[in-house]
Formats: sequence, structure tokens, C-alpha cells
Amino acid sequence: QTITVDFTPSSEKRSYPIHIGYGILQQVDLIVSCLPQKRVAVVSNTTIAPLYLNKLRIALEERGVSSVPIILPDGEAHKNWETLNLIFDALLQNHCERNTAILALGGGVIGDLTGFAAATYLRGVPFIQIPTTLLAQVDSSVGGKTGINHPSGKNMIGAFYQPRMVLADSATLNTLPDRELRAGLAEIIKYGLIRDPAFFDWLEQNMHRLLARDSVTLNEAIQRSCENKAEIVAADEKEKGIRALLNLGHTFGHAIENGMGYGVWLHGEAVAAGTVMAAELSRRMKLISDVDVQRIRKILLQAELPVVAPKMPLEKYMQLMTLDKKVEAGKSRFILLNRIGEAVMRADIAPAILNETILACM
Ligand code: NAD
Ligand code: ZN
Repeated sequence: QTITVDFTPSSEKRSYPIHIGYGILQQVDLIVSCLPQKRVAVVSNTTIAPLYLNKLRIALEERGVSSVPIILPDGEAHKNWETLNLIFDALLQNHCERNTAILALGGGVIGDLTGFAAATYLRGVPFIQIPTTLLAQVDSSVGGKTGINHPSGKNMIGAFYQPRMVLADSATLNTLPDRELRAGLAEIIKYGLIRDPAFFDWLEQNMHRLLARDSVTLNEAIQRSCENKAEIVAADEKEKGIRALLNLGHTFGHAIENGMGYGVWLHGEAVAAGTVMAAELSRRMKLISDVDVQRIRKILLQAELPVVAPKMPLEKYMQLMTLDKKVEAGKSRFILLNRIGEAVMRADIAPAILNETILACM
């Protein structure tokens, strides 16, 4: 069955659907019904294309929709101008028009690249997200942040651009490596922590089913994550306020990701260790209880995610954290937890407490 979450971003008059279900990539009518033209471009990568692209193209063809395949190299290292240009080259060579929708078939890297291409090609063309990683299904495909990396920082160039729809087929997760699946769980746990305590309880009960890739449980986790993200983004699309709560664990996490070199720690793994650091900082700020901090550690361990930060010099952590985009006027803003299910943003962290927290978490 298909679950649909409707999402109305404040910048758009129309809402768009997020379809979630097992095997729904076969229901191409969901896609065809929102195409302005019987022609699309499908952007994917060398890993995902052999698994899913041909089937999708054939199914579209059966509905009279022709498709231009654009297959990019795989990896975060390719989320850059050069790869973006490969998309533009292919769109132009194939005479794609204003009404030619662009479909992103892949994880967050493909989604971010394709979304940015769609936002800027001919000043904006219709865009559809078909996320194939758990992280992309619960996080990056929803909310309209698109972009690429710059040598001096992650996601430094981009645009807010909402898709026409999101189609999350949980059957695609069957081929996802275990490590990538667990990385997605870190972002799912985040929603429970920042605003949905009942979801956190549910995750504690169901983590083993998620790890076993039980499709009913996965669909429910994806749905509840998308509902949480859609509500946050609807309230604050351009991240002027509460959308920043989604960055729980990310200031520390980005320091870990950057400090270790991309690919050594997956984003979700770094966020998991970063979440423990944020919880420990919250405890030292006399916000969250010891009991809640232990529950956070426990659920991350259950999800087989790291809860100890990698050993790096303290100065390196501090330096990497000030590179984070969320730093304004030299002051780091941290997302902290009052309790499980309630996050706050704070900019008044004493350096001594921050140092102590980092040292204690390595
Ligand atoms: P990813 O896109 O690199 O995918 C991870 C790996 O899994 C890749 O090798 C990919 O080819 C492979 N893969 C994807 N689907 C597969 C499948 N079904 N079967 C087998 N292999 C598959 O990584 P990700 O974790 O999906 O996304 C990370 C990116 O998302 C980062 O660039 C991050 O900045 C971005 N992101 C964006 C947002 C946003 O709001 N736009 C939010 C969070 C993260
Ligand atoms: Zn994240």
C-alpha cells in the first residue's frame, strides 16, 4: 500500500505529495500523473543505474513517456561543479525544455545535485525526487535544500527548490549496504529527539525490526520522519528559526566528517557521535537528565552506530566547528536537548564547558 504525506511549503501555493511504500517504483502512474510533458530526464549514478534505472525507463516507456538517462560517477567527491555541468551538458544536448521534468534516482548526493540542476536549468524545470537511500527517504529528499560542495566547504553553493513530488520505494533499500542503512537511522532518531518523544519510544521498541529491514516497520519510520520534516519545513522553509533544530548533532558531526576526511565516517555515523556530544553538552548545561542521555546512547548503540567521537586534537575540533555554516558573527549556535523530544537552540555556551564535553566524548 502507498502512504502519502502531503507537504505545503510556505513558498508554494500547492502542496506536493510524498509517496511511501514497498515496491511503489513500479507504480509509475504516480510519476506520470504529475508530468507536464511525456518526456523526462533521469539522473542517477553508476551504482544505482544498473539496479533500478532500466526498469524505471521501461515502465515509463510503456506509458508513452520517453526518458533521457544521465548517469553520473558515484560519491560525495563528485558533488561539485564539474558533475553539475555533466547534467547541464546532457540536458542541452538532448534539447530538454522548460516542461521536461528531471527525476533524481539515487541517494542524497544525486538528489542534491539534480535538484540544483533543476532549479537553475532554464531558470527552473519540474523536479521529482526518487530517493533510494534511507537517509534520502527520511531527510534529504524532503524540504527543498539542493546544492553542491565547494573545495572550501560542504553544500556551500545551492538553492531552495521544492520537488513536484517525492516517491520513496522502501524496496530499493534491500540493496543498500548495511552501513548506509544505519547512517539513515541516525537521522530518523534525530526526529524523535528534537520533537517527537512518542516516535522515540516507538523506535526503541522497533529498532531490531528496522535493522532487519522489515518493510512495514521501515515504511512507518519513513512516514513519521517525513511528517516531522514536512511540518518543520512548512513552518520555516528558509531556516530562519526552528528548521535549525534539524541540525542536532550536526555541528559536532560536520567537524568529525571534515576532520576525518570524507568517506571515512559516513554523515549519519558522524551525526550519531555528534548527537551524543550534543546530549553531553546539554547535560553539562543542566538541561537534559542523565537518564535521557543514557537512553540516547543506548538507542544509537542498538542502531549499531558510533557513540564515541574520534580522537582529534581539541583545537582541531574547535577550528572545524567554526567552519560550520551555522556559525554567525563568530558565535557557534548549538542545538541542545531539554529532554528527549524537546530541542532548543543556544548560543551562550561557555568555551570551558564545550572543551570539557569534547574531551569527555572522545
Ligand atoms: P549517497 O547519495 O552518497 O548514497 C550512499 C551510497 O549508496 C552511494 O554509493 C550510492 O550510490 C549508494 N546507493 C544509493 N541507493 C542505493 C541502493 N538502493 N542500493 C545500493 N546502493 C545505493 O549518500 P546519502 O547518505 O544518501 O546522502 C548524503 C548526501 O545527502 C550528502 O551529500 C548530504 O550533504 C546530503 N544531504 C542533503 C540534505 C538536504 O536537505 N538536501 C539533508 C541531508 C543530507
Ligand atoms: Zn544530516
